[in-house]
Amino acid sequence: MYSINPAKRVQALPPYVFARLDELKARAREQGLDLIDLGMGNPDGATPKPVVEAAIAALQDSTNHGYPPFEGTASFRKAITDWYFRRYSVKLDPDGEALPLLGSKEGLTHLALAYINPGNLVLAPNPAYPAHFRGPLIAGGKVHSILLKPENDWIIDLADIPDSVAEQAKVFYFNYPSNPTGATAPREFFQDIVTFAKKYEILLVHDLCYAELAFDGYQPTSLLQIPGGKDIGVEFHTMSKTYNMAGWRIGFVVGNSNVIQGLRTLKTNMDYGVFSALQLAAKTALQLPDEYLSQVQERYRQRRDFLIQGLGKLGWNVQKTMATMYLWVPCPPGIGSTDFALSVLQKTGVVVTPGNAFGSGGEGYVRISLIAECKRLDEALNRFKKAGIYYQ
Ligand SMILES: *Cc1c(COP(=O)(O)O)cnc(C)c1O
Repeated sequence: MYSINPAKRVQALPPYVFARLDELKARAREQGLDLIDLGMGNPDGATPKPVVEAAIAALQDSTNHGYPPFEGTASFRKAITDWYFRRYSVKLDPDGEALPLLGSKEGLTHLALAYINPGNLVLAPNPAYPAHFRGPLIAGGKVHSILLKPENDWIIDLADIPDSVAEQAKVFYFNYPSNPTGATAPREFFQDIVTFAKKYEILLVHDLCYAELAFDGYQPTSLLQIPGGKDIGVEFHTMSKTYNMAGWRIGFVVGNSNVIQGLRTLKTNMDYGVFSALQLAAKTALQLPDEYLSQVQERYRQRRDFLIQGLGKLGWNVQKTMATMYLWVPCPPGIGSTDFALSVLQKTGVVVTPGNAFGSGGEGYVRISLIAECKRLDEALNRFKKAGIYYQ
């Protein structure tokens, strides 16, 4: 037999905890178990009707059928910067400071390839969204993970980064509101991280995919609102979450034009950009009235409150999240993340994600996604009760 192995950059990737969970999910399904899957960050709602209709109309127009422009259509880039101004009162140049992506995960990972040489030091929190450390690993970078602590509300403590590490670091990935912890960071944190990045000349990569999934009047901060943020950073956005467009694969990056140019140069050698019809659909999404936004926010807020209250009756004291579609829930004392998630799945058919899937710093927690109606969440809680799954 041939023995042709994948490249080291593939072999070096830590195993995906999700794979084991997937296997068990498949087995449970075969046994006819009615799974309640709260494991993925995959929104359960439909893409808004006006967006689907715009896509259908765009599909029927043959001028959209060829290769799209590498840098994205001018009209979508303009829609991005208009949306950005409306949300954050910051003016961006649609010609150099905005670039459509095939989903933000693609951009986050390709940015690593565009900016990280083998051996370069990259800062990333732990736990984190996997692309924030796996992208740098694929590029051959060395990741210095910053352990997040519950006593610091899961906010990065910049004082934890030794000077010698900061001096060597080239890129810093971070994400607030955070997946997986649901944490939000105050504006002062953003000011501090900009000062830090300027001092050590580090490229800041902020993932703001939960820009609009915020509750109770909370408005997430954009890196580009902070004076100096655009000098030293870029920010990734997605259509996947707010607009229920996860399967469509479209997002965008905004920020420093030189950095975006570097990413664009790499991408022109790898892909042809986003299908023009899809860019028209995404433009429609960004232009939806705020009423749509309120509905989405209200739906997740209700689920958050419902689940926090229900878990409270089972002994969990879960703090209210101000944003995201996740609850970050401690495992009962004495059981690890993977074992707890597997035991919950086997005893109840409810899928939650073990916290260590997001790095060692997530050990001791599971992430529960608010991606089912309250009725299903209620069913999940009832199964917990019946199976004797409590926090004790
Ligand atoms: C869901 C999510 C994304 C979205 O990725 P897309 O590729 O745009 O679908 C990006 N970052 C984080 C932290 C996420 O949770």
